[in-house]
Parts: sequence; C-alpha cells; structure tokens
Amino acid sequence: MENSLKKKLIEALKDQKEIFGDDLFEQKNLNRKTILQVDTKQEMNDKLKAAKYTSKASSKFDVKDKPQEEVYKIPSPQKDETKLFEDPKEKWELSKDLNDLNNLICNCQKCQLGSTRNKFVFGSGNSNADAMVIGEGPGADEDAQGLPFVGRAGKLLTDILKAINFSRDEVYIANIVKCRPPGNRTPYPQEMDTCIPYLKKQIELIKPKVILCLGLTAAQGLLKKKDSLTSMRGKIFEFENIKVMVTYHPAALLRNPNWKRGCWEDVKKIRKLYDELVTNNGKD
Ligand code: URA
Repeated sequence: MENSLKKKLIEALKDQKEIFGDDLFEQKNLNRKTILQVDTKQEMNDKLKAAKYTSKASSKFDVKDKPQEEVYKIPSPQKDETKLFEDPKEKWELSKDLNDLNNLICNCQKCQLGSTRNKFVFGSGNSNADAMVIGEGPGADEDAQGLPFVGRAGKLLTDILKAINFSRDEVYIANIVKCRPPGNRTPYPQEMDTCIPYLKKQIELIKPKVILCLGLTAAQGLLKKKDSLTSMRGKIFEFENIKVMVTYHPAALLRNPNWKRGCWEDVKKIRKLYDELVTNNGKD
C-alpha cells in the first residue's frame, strides 16, 4: 500500500478510536461471531439512542434537556496491604518545586522513549496555575524545542484557550508522556505507566483547580478509565480532589474540523467551572 494512503488510513482509525475507544479494537469485536452476539437488535437500538442523546446534549439548542451535573469520582489506587514497608521514595518524588522536579527527571531513561527523544518535554506555563491542560505526548516540533504544544496542534490549542479567555501563560500545559513516541504513535501502556507518576507529581506541586484532558489517551491515562471519548465528554470527573473535564485533541480537530463545535461546548463548560471555583470564589 502507498505510504501516504497508509498514513491517512491510520489517521482515520485513530480518529475512530478517539471517539469510540478500545471497543472498536478489542479482540471480541474483531470476532464477527461475537459481534453478532453482542450487537443484538435491542442493543443496537440502545446504542443508537445513546448516540442520539449524546449529540443532542452537546447541541447548543438543547441544554435544558441535559441531566443534572454529576461529579464522577476516580478512586485513588489501593495501598498494597500485604507490604510491610513502603518502597523508599526516589529523589524526584521529594521535589519541592517544578524546577527541582524537572532537573531530577529530565535525563530519564526508564522507558524506551528516552533513547529516541531529542528533548525531554517537561511542561510549560504558570507553575501556580488554577487550570492545567494535559495532552498525549510531544510531537516532532515539541521534541525539537523541548516545549509542549508548539506545532500546528499547539497553535490551535492557543486559539481554543484564547476563545475562553485564557492565555497560555496563565495555565500549565503538560503531557501524559514527556518524550516523543517515534512517528507520533500512541504511547504504549507501559510508557504511560512509567511516565504518569511524573505528571502526578507536577499536579501535586501545581495544585490546579481544574484539568482539561485533550483526547482519549490523556483522559484514559489520567483517569485510568477505558471509556470512550464520547462518553467522557461533558462529564465532570474528580481526580484527587481536582475537577477534570475531557475534550477532543487539537490534532484530531485539525483532521476533523466538524468536531470543533463539540470542543467549543466542552471548553465553555470548563471555563464556567473554573469561574465557579476560582474567579467567582467567595462571591455570591
Ligand atoms: N500533541 C500532544 O499531545 N502534545 C504536545 O505537546 C503536542 C502535540
């Protein structure tokens, strides 16, 4: 197959995954027999109804039909009760500020991405931010500059933030993984599991009031959920007492401009939440 066609096909599949999550790709769904068993007519009807409701709910004109706001709490990982003693902490875990943390982890070689990166992309922005934005992982531009979201998707992110009255310097921007996955592939679970503790430490130091996850990888990685993007959008999750919302990844919006409207609805919602928690805090 021609390389450009292959690339387009992969991008299209990535977009499908962005929306439907692993449901599309899990082994059970690749087995035709199982599909026929799982997708009975009733289930198909239910799915169609659910899809209809979701797109309806995100429409500007049907807000009154939306259910009451609910916060979905993400349980903290259970402590291993069988362990007599805690593992000794690594030095970076004791960092007192972001600079300290960056210096201690920037030469990381814990996963294979360490050996192919050009620059470690720690994150950038206001170290005291009340709003944090989390993407998937550095692309080629970010890998070259050592800064998150500086390529085409980054420019779109800047515009999205501007549209809800945030400047880039006001928020803090980071990624699920800090090194570029070769060819911009989705980071592997092992790479994410290795890198997410660094992100969690950043969150602990910054203490934002709200977090916006961009795309399925960021949402599933941070919230440790397997749900589809469609089912997570519009909901408010709570991760370690911080409100988390989810929207499309800007790179996906560049490929599918018709998703921008949904993104606009999502980001207006997180701005409102931010205003309730931060800007108007204590008033009325
Ligand atoms: N995409 C991401 O997820 N993160 C970046 O920093 C750039 C592009």
